[in-house]
Amino acid sequence: MQVDKHKVVTIDYTLTDNEGNVLDQSRNGEFAYLHGADNIIPGLETALDGKETGEEVNVAVPPGEAYGEYNDALKQVVSKEMFPSQNDVEPGRQFHAQTPEGNPMIITVTDVSGDDVTIDANHPLAGRTLNFEVKVVDVREPSHEELEHGHVHGPGGHEHD
Ligand code: ZN
Repeated sequence: MQVDKHKVVTIDYTLTDNEGNVLDQSRNGEFAYLHGADNIIPGLETALDGKETGEEVNVAVPPGEAYGEYNDALKQVVSKEMFPSQNDVEPGRQFHAQTPEGNPMIITVTDVSGDDVTIDANHPLAGRTLNFEVKVVDVREPSHEELEHGHVHGPGGHEHD
């Protein structure tokens, strides 16, 4: 079956940066997504469009089609008191937060100087070209429930409580 809008697509992939470091990987059909539902980054979705089960795709996705360009305005200095557990605040530490629109985001602590904490709300992969080696493992029709929810259920997909 061909990858097309609203098909459930299972892929194995290796994601590397331009220096060849492996940033993420999925094997043995453990990752599935709903095509055309913004489950994965736009550049990868476009590259997979129309591919068949068993096909392999290598694609370099520029930041604009991945997690966006790096935005200096998303870096700011805040007071250490803003953090629930002040002892854990150190460079490299990541915290979950919400955008004003209520979307989840990750902030990374990049510097701590006394009470001043520099945080960076850019996505950790912002500004980076992402190199994917992908194999299409399976393509199937979605269930009605999956279509309604906009994501995949079961193996490789979303587990509801
Ligand atoms: Zn669901």
